[in-house]
Amino acid sequence: TFIAFEGGEGAGKSTQARLLAEALGRRGLEVVLTREPGGTPGAEAIRNLLLANEGDGWNWRAEALLFAAARSDHVERLIRPSLAKGRWVICDRFLDSSRAYQGRAGGLSDAEIRKLHQIGSEGLLPALTVLVNVSPEVAEQRLSLRDGGSSDRIGARSPEYHARVAAAFSEYAQEEPERFALIDGNGTVEATHALVLEAVEKLL
Ligand code: C5P
Repeated sequence: TFIAFEGGEGAGKSTQARLLAEALGRRGLEVVLTREPGGTPGAEAIRNLLLANEGDGWNWRAEALLFAAARSDHVERLIRPSLAKGRWVICDRFLDSSRAYQGRAGGLSDAEIRKLHQIGSEGLLPALTVLVNVSPEVAEQRLSLRDGGSSDRIGARSPEYHARVAAAFSEYAQEEPERFALIDGNGTVEATHALVLEAVEKLL
């Protein structure tokens, strides 16, 4: 079973993905916790390139191709083989991040992003996508606590860019209510985890 976590930076996705993986593990399930961009050595190398973001970075198409290339390696070498063995795969970000960041906020159309995903990863979709929603204020606060606000982010993006990302995620969740669980992440870590567990219960 394939579960993805999505949301803006500072939403608490990574913490919640880890807590879910631990909870499922305690139930005796075999769980693979992974992330995008990354998850395999080749894809992590692409992640480092993207996060280093030196010089001018890339044009939007090149950036989207790099994300798609990282995902292709990750899907083929880790995600699909794990699913084939009956494992649960929990992935911190997946296709909807590409749609929101490189698509809506970046510049490629949704059709182009989906075409890249089809070519790179044969259109693999999560059974459930957990969208962790927080207010911009909560996200800012968490990011400044985490790392001074800068490391491990693709830099120099405006508040408007992040607002477009947030709006895009909300729309995707409305368009595909079956595939998405909308989770309020403004509360405590424990409260949010309880909401995530409730949403995942239907897959168990
Ligand atoms: O998941 P995390 O917040 O660690 O992502 C690392 C960086 O990569 C963030 O700046 C995020 O916005 C960016 N990213 C992106 N497009 C994606 C996935 C992640 O711009 N498809």
